[in-house]
Amino acid sequence: MPKNNDDLMQKIVSLAKRRGFVFPGSEIYGGFANSYSYGPYGTELKNNIKNLWWKTFVSDRQDIVGLDGPIMLNPKVWEASGHTSGFNDAMVDCKECKKRFRADHLVEQSTGRDLEGDLKAMSDILKDEKVKCPNCGKSNWTEVRNFNMMFKTEMNGIDEPVYLRPETAGAIFVDFKNVIDSMRVKIPFGIAQIGKAFRNEIIAGNFIFRLREFEQMEIEYFIDPKTKWEPLFEEWLVAQEKFALALGAHKKDLKKYEHPKEKLSHYSKKTVDIEYNFPFGFSELYGLAHRGDFDLTQHSKFSGEDLTYLDQASNRKYIPHVLEPTFGVDRSVLVALSSAYTEEAVGDETRIVLKFPKNLAPIKAAIFPLLKNKENLVSKAKEVFDLLKGEFMCEFDDNGNIGKRYRRQDEIGTPYCVTIDFDTLADGTVTVRDRDTMEQERVSLDNLKDYLIKNLK
Ligand code: ATP
Repeated sequence: MPKNNDDLMQKIVSLAKRRGFVFPGSEIYGGFANSYSYGPYGTELKNNIKNLWWKTFVSDRQDIVGLDGPIMLNPKVWEASGHTSGFNDAMVDCKECKKRFRADHLVEQSTGRDLEGDLKAMSDILKDEKVKCPNCGKSNWTEVRNFNMMFKTEMNGIDEPVYLRPETAGAIFVDFKNVIDSMRVKIPFGIAQIGKAFRNEIIAGNFIFRLREFEQMEIEYFIDPKTKWEPLFEEWLVAQEKFALALGAHKKDLKKYEHPKEKLSHYSKKTVDIEYNFPFGFSELYGLAHRGDFDLTQHSKFSGEDLTYLDQASNRKYIPHVLEPTFGVDRSVLVALSSAYTEEAVGDETRIVLKFPKNLAPIKAAIFPLLKNKENLVSKAKEVFDLLKGEFMCEFDDNGNIGKRYRRQDEIGTPYCVTIDFDTLADGTVTVRDRDTMEQERVSLDNLKDYLIKNLK
C-alpha cells in the first residue's frame, strides 16, 4: 500500500484522471477553482452509488417517497430557512500574500479554541497571538468578517437576487404540503431527494471532498412530536453507517461525532456527524440532525400556508418534527475510491486494483477476443458482448496483450474479464478471470450470463 496518506491521495487523484473517473474542471483553459468533471467511469460509479441509495431508502421502503425539486427557489425560502442572514463562514485575508482563509479554522488550528460566530474574538486572537499565515508565514490580517456562502444569480422578471440552493432540503419543505395532499403518506414518513447544491466555500479542496458545486442525497423524515424520537435517531445512524459500509468503507475508518449541546442550533435536539478516515484524516462524511419543527414552522410563517398535518387516527393536528439524514454524493465517491484502492505485489510487479463492492463497479464484465487480428475470435467476442450488454455494463477490449488488458480492468475495478480464445470456437467455453483472486475458470457460454449474475450479487 502507499507509504503515507498524502501519497495515497495523490495516487487516487492521478488514477482517477488517468483512468477516466475524475478530471480537473475546465482543464484545457488552465483549470477552474477546484471544480471537477466526472469522466465515463466516474459517472458510472457515481450513478451506481446514487441508485443504491435510492433503492435502499426509497424503492425498498414503504415509508419514503422521492422528489426532484428545482435548484432555484423563491428567494423567500432562504429567508425563512435562515440562509440569507445566517449561512455564513468567518473569512479573513492575509494582507501580505492576499490569500484568503476560514478564520475559525486558523484560530482552531493555532489555539485549539472554537470561537464559532464570534468575529471580534477571532480578529483579536489572530492579531494578539500573532497567528502566522499558513501560506507566507507572516502575521498581518484584515478584520474577520462574515461571508455568505450562497451563490447569487439573476432571473428575468425578478427584481431581487435569486440563489442557487445551498442544500437540497429546502425544496422538500416547500413541497411538504403537495406531498401530503397528493400521496397517501402517513406519519412517520420521509421525502428523499438527490441533486446538486452550491456553496461558495471560502476554501474548497481535498480533491472532491469540498467542492463549490456538489451533490447531496437528503431525506426529511417527519415524525409525530409526541413520538419517542431517540430510537428512530439511532436507527437512522445505523442506516447511514450501513450505507457507508456498502460503499466499501471499513468499520475502523468510520466514527461518530456528536455536536456538543451548547453548539446546537436552538431548534436542534441532537446532531451527529458520521466521519470517515479520508486520506487526509477523519472528516464529515454524512450528518444526522433532529431539526424539531423549525423548518415547517418557518415556511408556514413566511408563506402564509398552513403546514400542519392531520393525524386521522387520533384526530390531532400538528406540525411534525423532522429527522434529517444527509449524505454527500461526492464524499461517497471519495470513500468508494479510497477504500477500494489496493496495491499488490504480483511477481516483480505491483498490481493496482480498485476493489469496489461488485455492485458499484463501473464496468461489471470486460470481454476480450484473445487476438485482435483473428476475425472469428473478434466476431465471437462481439456476440458475447451483445449477449451480456443488456444485463449490466460491459466493455469490449481488443487492444494490447491480455496481461495489459487485465491490468487496465483491475485499475477501473472490473470484477470479471471474459476471454474468447480458440477453445471457445471448439467447445463453447470462455475463460472468466476474477478481479480479486486473479483465478481463472472455464465457463460454458450457455451458463455465462447466469454465472456472472450470480457472482455479481
Ligand atoms: P462541512 O462541515 O464539511 O462543511 P457541513 O456540516 O456544512 O459540512 P452539511 O450542511 O451537513 O455539511 O451538508 C450535508 C452533507 O453535504 C455533508 O455531510 C457532506 O457530505 C456534503 N457536503 C457539504 N458541503 C460540501 C462541499 N462543499 N463539497 C462536497 N460535499 C459537501
